Amino acid sequence: RLAEVSGRTALAYEAAEGETLVDVRFIEELGWYLVVEQRVASVLGAVSRTFALNLAASVVIAAVFLGIAHRVLFLYQRDLERSATTDPLTGTLNRAAFETIAHRAFERTPSRRGARRGDALSMLFIDIDHFKRINDTHGHVVGDAVIRHCARTLAEALRDGDVLCRWGGEEFCVLLEGCTASEAETAGAHVRAAVEAAPLHHDGTAVPMTVSIGVGERRTGETLDDFLGRVDRALYAAKEAGRNRVQLASEGAFVRE
Ligand code: GH3
Ligand code: MG
Ligand code: MG
Repeated sequence: RLAEVSGRTALAYEAAEGETLVDVRFIEELGWYLVVEQRVASVLGAVSRTFALNLAASVVIAAVFLGIAHRVLFLYQRDLERSATTDPLTGTLNRAAFETIAHRAFERTPSRRGARRGDALSMLFIDIDHFKRINDTHGHVVGDAVIRHCARTLAEALRDGDVLCRWGGEEFCVLLEGCTASEAETAGAHVRAAVEAAPLHHDGTAVPMTVSIGVGERRTGETLDDFLGRVDRALYAAKEAGRNRVQLASEGAFVRE
């Protein structure tokens, strides 16, 4: 084939080492053939090494970038969730989050026939006594501090699994899973005593506070609204009876399963 080359041509041949490219040029002035051979594998090897290196670097950069993006999104979502479920003044759960948790707990509670010990579900409704007076005497800033202090005292006095929320204003609600009415009554008495024993200290003076508490155990099939209404009436009765006390809710009307 070389003898046929007059100007310049590109040829190729297969050998044991693989394909080889041949570039041939005939130099007329000298009557020479200039032949350049290049094994394809050696060229492709270098190119593919560079390609692999670039690809690996891109994958690492993309992975780092995705990792950072994922982390930022996760933190952002956690903050969103936290602010949607948390009461900003006290840091406890808010009412919406509490209702979601209570509904879930209701769904877990089996029907009366399947009920076992440990399935009981009770609630405390807690209201600070004469809170208006605290606001009027010490001002709203101290009033806010009293609400925060009360939340802290309640959280410390309750068990780890109890669900505490700020229902609104100076009212708190607690869900006690696995507690019967009498166990919840005991928890309520403990909480009431803890609040009375731990006044907020402000500017060197103690700001005394007490709470009244309504207590009830959920009847099977009772809706959250009916249950809350019953416990709220018990709270009202505790207020009527002189405040700083715990009142057990009435059994209420028969509830159809
Ligand atoms: P009772 O013993 O009957 O519960 O008397 P009370 O004065 O606590 O009764 P009431 O529930 O009528 O008063 C609650 C007051 O709490 C009214 C409102 O001005 C005040 N309050 C509600 N939310 C806040 C708050 O976030 N911060 C402060 N400082 N005060 C609040
Ligand atoms: Mg109130
Ligand atoms: Mg009150």
